Amino acid sequence: MTALQIHQFPCLGDNYGYLVHDPDSGLTATIDSPDPGAIRHALDGHGWKLDYILNTHHHEDHAGGNLALKASTGCTIVGARADAERIPGIDIFVSEGDSFTLGKHTARIIETPGHTRAHICYLFEADRVAFVGDTLFSMGCGRLFEGTPAQMWTSLQKVMQLPDETKIFCAHEYTQSNGRFALTMEPDNPALLARMREVAALRAAGQPTVPSTLGTEKATNPFLRPASTELRATLGLAAATDTEVFAETRKRKDQF
Ligand SMILES: [Zn+2]
Repeated sequence: MTALQIHQFPCLGDNYGYLVHDPDSGLTATIDSPDPGAIRHALDGHGWKLDYILNTHHHEDHAGGNLALKASTGCTIVGARADAERIPGIDIFVSEGDSFTLGKHTARIIETPGHTRAHICYLFEADRVAFVGDTLFSMGCGRLFEGTPAQMWTSLQKVMQLPDETKIFCAHEYTQSNGRFALTMEPDNPALLARMREVAALRAAGQPTVPSTLGTEKATNPFLRPASTELRATLGLAAATDTEVFAETRKRKDQF
């Protein structure tokens, strides 16, 4: 089985588009449909034909290009069964534990409510690749538009079960501003300080900071670190539950 090819490109203001291509079968999927023009340009550049849109959630910068791409390519649209009425053009309905296969590459679907009530992630586990949409960002997580802190913390814990080397492909380049907030939570975290130096160098060179790895996120992302003594001291929540610490961290970020 040949490795998946992943083509990453910036689009809209600060989104990332992703084409996922299986060389053996010739099949290609786009993760979400942020910008149909940019996606078609990327497809043409590789000589690939679009077979699938894999939607993570219904927001305009994720599913807004569904119908235009379906009309021009005849692709099949995969999305959350629980959000079928909000995913334009949906053809295949998936739920927790379902699989989607691109050739011989299998993505496990996990439901990660919080940012929206029916957000899903696509985990290509054998490939050590996770497309997490707006659930997990590098050093951040999605805002809680439709879910509770407890739901989001449960969702993030599902992603945290993956191996540390798993590449985390999120949908936005928010890393540097997320990191500035993270430093207010854990100013003495050596992994965070090192990551911020790396991120500054990447951005200065015009390079993406995405993907990161799950191991890096566990070491630097305050939303994955409610057990951190330093984070708890910052929040004055030494004896609180992880969910309470997560909720307070999210609240502080909303006000940052
Ligand atoms: Zn969103």
